[in-house]
Parts: sequence; structure tokens; C-alpha cells
Amino acid sequence: MNMNTQAMAMDHHWLPFTNNRAFRQNPQVFAKAKGVRYWTPEGDELLDGSSGLFCSAAGHGRPEIAEAVSRQLMELDYTPHFQRAAPVSFELAERLAALLPEGIDRVFFGASGSEAVDSAMKIALAYHRARGQGQRTRFVSRAWAYHGVNLGGTALAGMVGNRRDFSGATCDVVHMRHTWSEDQRFTRGQPDDGAHLADDLEEICKTYGPETIAAVFVEPIAGSIGTIVPPKGYLARLREIADRHGILLVFDEVITGFGRTGSAFAAQEFGVTPDIITMAKALTNGAVPMSAVGVKTEIQDAVFAAAEGADRPELMHGYTYSAHPVACAAALAALNIYRDDGLFERSRALSPVFLDAVFGLRNLPQVSDLRGYGMVAGVQLAPGDQPGAKGMAVQRRLFDAGLHVKATGDALILAPAFVASESEIGQMADILRGVLGQAF
Ligand code: PMP
Repeated sequence: MNMNTQAMAMDHHWLPFTNNRAFRQNPQVFAKAKGVRYWTPEGDELLDGSSGLFCSAAGHGRPEIAEAVSRQLMELDYTPHFQRAAPVSFELAERLAALLPEGIDRVFFGASGSEAVDSAMKIALAYHRARGQGQRTRFVSRAWAYHGVNLGGTALAGMVGNRRDFSGATCDVVHMRHTWSEDQRFTRGQPDDGAHLADDLEEICKTYGPETIAAVFVEPIAGSIGTIVPPKGYLARLREIADRHGILLVFDEVITGFGRTGSAFAAQEFGVTPDIITMAKALTNGAVPMSAVGVKTEIQDAVFAAAEGADRPELMHGYTYSAHPVACAAALAALNIYRDDGLFERSRALSPVFLDAVFGLRNLPQVSDLRGYGMVAGVQLAPGDQPGAKGMAVQRRLFDAGLHVKATGDALILAPAFVASESEIGQMADILRGVLGQAF
């Protein structure tokens, strides 16, 4: 805490996803974090209701990660690619393969969720081309989806605000409907009805021809729109349709990965194995930027087979910071914490307490819907005069009341760390009740 907010020069840093003009008038700055708490430069304490941005599942400031990072920095701070690699990357890939659903055991690394998504798109294209189906260039995703902000992910985006200013995002993407409906309001867990919405994929196949479609991308639980839980049977039906038409199924598990649903991945929780899984955020507990793409063996086999006899990379793709050794060390330390502290089990055990607290907000005048599964929930706010403005206003009020949560449009996304105590979950709910009980 070396500088107070007033003294900061704020003209130079162009903040992401931020109304920079409003921020400069009314800055919200975090200077320190530990466990499930943040502190402002002035020393005000906030509970962290969203694990930062769904990253810090094991709580902030874990010394195990700090030590692993510092050790790795002194041992080997960077490795190049092009026929070079670091030992720690193989160790991490092996650990991830063991956590991933059976059959998904090849791992490609990036530095962000957005990179994982665009890498998955390119792997899907390369796979089809390798099998003589290079005409499969179209992607399918869903309304209200968020798949990061690189050009591929921007084209996949179903949150239209994320595409509005970037109409040059060129991938050919067709959107299915989202799965939320009015009659699901205040459903805890998976809605009973809505599996038939997966048939949108079948309709898209009829319209465009399945032979033009490379992959369908879904977040098993749509996160950034405000937590939309998949209806029972929906993901299995998508799997069945994708299989029938030779389309790859990709689960974007950037939020749901690493215990958020109680299982290592939502794929295991919902009993549906996709062909590719993207992950990031809690991979390093948020401490160091890193992402990964888990890929079925046969996808890699097909891409490798196409390069047989040629001395060239099988996939001409990668990033300077792919498999960064320091990020690998952070991820291994995070995975050790999850295993040694039993945090996925802790997530499952804490979920009923968390969801009770969230669904206890039901009768507040500002709350128009509640949704939740595992350790992630959405609080939908009754919209004000300007749709989408309520969330930011409430986020600010909650900040002042001592709670950090992520707002999105007119919704709040709650996703506390699995190490939160029951009483800390209760305190978060009390702060929410205080602010959402007010008229404004
Ligand atoms: N996919 C999903 C499902 C996400 O929730 C996010 C981030 N919120 C991303 C991709 C993009 O990740 P990043 O911000 O690390 O690029």
C-alpha cells in the first residue's frame, strides 16, 4: 500500500472493460489481497465475492504459489519454442491430462482464456483439414455466450455488445438460442426443461449443411452473461447431434474448470465429454496468466498423421508465452493446493451453504431472478430506466459497502473462493441484502 488513490496519475493507463472517464472521477482500486479479501490503498477492506474474476478459487496470496513462482524464476525464467521446451511444461500437461475427462489427454498452452478459445478454433480447423474436410470452416456458438475477445472469440460471442464495435471479426459463426426462459426464474441447479433447444444445432445443420461446420462452442454454464445453468439433458443432446454430423464439441470451461461445479471440470459434473476443453483463470489460481486447451487424443493423432513424412510443425500455431515456465510452476502449485487441501470436495460441500445464501435474496425488490450451480450464481436485477446500467450502479454500491462482485449488464455474478468460511459467505449475503434492499 504505497500510494493512495488520490495521488495516482490516471491519464496513461487505458483500463480494459472500463468506462475510463467515470473511473477517473470515481476510482475503485485494490492494493492488496489475501484469502477472500481485498484492501483499497486507503486500507478499506472488501470481501471478494467473485474470486477476482472467477480466478482465485484457493483464495488470494497463497504462499505455495509465490514460492513456486520465485523458485522457477531463478531456475529458468523463460524457454523459447521451435523444437525447445522446459521440463515443467511436461509435468503440468501430465497433471492436467489426469484431471481432464478420459480421452482428453493432449494439452496445448496459452496465456489467456481468449488465446485458448482461438487456439481451439484453429485446432478444430486443422483437424478437419487433416482428414480431408477442409470445407468445415463454420463455427456454431450460442446467444449470450462469452468466449474471450480475440478475433475468433469475438466472432463466437453471443453477447452482442462484445461484437458491436468490431464488425470485421471475420469468422463465419452461426448462433443457437441461449437456454434461459421466463419460466425458469428462481431455479436452483439445472432447469428441468429446455433440452430441446440443443436441436438448434440440427436446424443449423439443415440450413448450412453439416459438412460446412467445424465445431460448436458452448460454456457448460454460461458465465459472463450472469450464470445460465444448462437444462437437464441439453449438453448430452448437443453431444449426440454433433457426433451424428462429425462436428467437434468444445466446452469453454474457462470459468467452470477447476472445481467451480464441484467436479474438476463441468464435463465430468454433467457427464458429457466434449472433444476439446478450454481452461484458464483458476488454472494458476489467477496468480500468473495462463490457459490451456485439452484435446482428445484422436484429434492430435489426425493432425500429426497429416504431417507424416514432412519435417514441419504439425500445428503452425503458438504464442511466445505458451507453456511459460513460470506460469507452469504457478499452475502446478495451484493444482497441488487443490489436491492437498481437497478444494474441489470443499467446493461441493460449500455449495449448498452458498446457494442457500444466494436464494435467500429471493424476495428483495431489486432481484428479478436467481440462478446457481456449484459455487457460481447469478443475481438478476430488475432493470432500471437504462437496461444494463443497474449492474454497474449496484457494483459500485457494493464496493462502498465492502463487497467485490462482478456485474454484467443487469446481473451480478457471485463465485467466491472455495476456501471461504460459511460465516464469510453469510457476510457476503448480508452485504448484498443491505444494498439490494434499498430503493434506487
Ligand atoms: N471464455 C470464457 C468462458 C470466459 O469466461 C473468459 C473470461 N471471462 C474467456 C473465455 C476469456 O478469458 P481471458 O479474459 O483470460 O482472455
